[in-house]
Amino acid sequence: MSEDVNPFESLQSQIDDAAAVLDVGDDVIERLKHPERVLETNLTIERDDGTLERFTAFRSQFNGDRGPYKGGIRYHPQVSRDEVRALSGWMTYKTAIVDIPLGGGKGGIVLDPDDYSEAELERLTRSFAKELRPLIGEDRDIPAPDVNTGQREMNWIKDTYESLENTTEPGVITGKALDSGGSEGRVEATGRSTVIAAREAFDYLDKDLEGATVAVQGYGNAGWIAAKLIDEMGATVVAASDSSGGIYNADGFDPVAAKDHKNETGSIVGYAGSEQEITNEDVLTLDVDLLIPAALENAIDADLAENVEADVISEAANGPLTPKADEVLEEKDVFVIPDILANAGGVTVSYFEWVQNRQRFYWSEERVNEELETVIVDAFDALVDTYERHDLENPRTAAYVVAIQRVADAFAEAGSWP
Ligand code: NAD
Repeated sequence: MSEDVNPFESLQSQIDDAAAVLDVGDDVIERLKHPERVLETNLTIERDDGTLERFTAFRSQFNGDRGPYKGGIRYHPQVSRDEVRALSGWMTYKTAIVDIPLGGGKGGIVLDPDDYSEAELERLTRSFAKELRPLIGEDRDIPAPDVNTGQREMNWIKDTYESLENTTEPGVITGKALDSGGSEGRVEATGRSTVIAAREAFDYLDKDLEGATVAVQGYGNAGWIAAKLIDEMGATVVAASDSSGGIYNADGFDPVAAKDHKNETGSIVGYAGSEQEITNEDVLTLDVDLLIPAALENAIDADLAENVEADVISEAANGPLTPKADEVLEEKDVFVIPDILANAGGVTVSYFEWVQNRQRFYWSEERVNEELETVIVDAFDALVDTYERHDLENPRTAAYVVAIQRVADAFAEAGSWP
């Protein structure tokens, strides 16, 4: 990557692009570019060998005008204050574009979880939950999984919170295991919305999804489910990558078998259905109909974007394109379905989980998937309507126009408080 991109600056430039079209005052836009508050905390836990280690952790509550803050908790060495601030902003506009009554938040701990035992990770997660306790709650701020966290960590946070509060409040966190109050369909939800959005885009562009070629960057939760579901819709997955490298087969491969290989060996590289090993960069620049970036942010910068050959990009990852890459892809007429819509399935089914937790009444997987389908299709229609009505340069700006208008309206309707 030749560009040094600060994700918080990326977020702000996306908001500025939308603000140019919106009839919202600069003072309100300025408010909507910054988090309401950011917790930075130091967590010190005992390692298994008896020594102590300190970790830096963050929770950013970006905006609560439309409902409780909502967003995941990430464990990664590159977690930073600016990354968490940016991700919390994207959550705000994500919940707004899909029109669910939640705000935006995000958190993270700076660490590589591979370097720690399960017992150490549990102590660390519970320590973070203790710090978060005054901030979170089903009506205040509802964390969820993100990179390198999952049901296990969510169950620990729920248990810590409930023990300290002496209550049962499963809606304090989402992404839980089913027996702990999780929702059917949550694990698949992000990949599912990524492909529903892609299907709608192909329909809008009059392109055939049947037989369309697909490359997927990142074969974790979001990426592999997207690969499986797009294959079920009739498309052909020809390439995929994970942090160890990429695989390619011009005739397509079985996404489930590739995942089984990754489960067994730790990587998709070496999967027998692959014709050829390729680099991570090759996966991003293949001549395919659909590219699904599903790893980390800033995966495609302006230089790489020059070589992107896909017709449609559905952003499963958050912020996978730098703003300069966006400009290049717009010039090249690539239809980019923005992250805040494409990967909104995760937060949407998190919302369904929260609704079920509060009702203490649980839905079937079929109902969850049907409701998700409606939310994503409605959001795509709202995006396209705004895209055409304002003759906007790209779908991302259209998504921000819809989302920022909704947040600004909620802020205006609340009135001012001294
Ligand atoms: P994950 O940890 O399950 O998977 C990440 C995958 O990316 C892994 O396969 C890893 O090997 C791969 N990867 C890392 N660096 C790579 C590189 N340079 N090239 C190719 N592959 C690389 O994470 P996830 O939950 O699937 O999340 C992926 C992205 O989707 C993140 O940006 C996350 O914020 C976003 N997202 C996830 C959810 C969710 O519900 N899981 C919801 C919304 C957005």
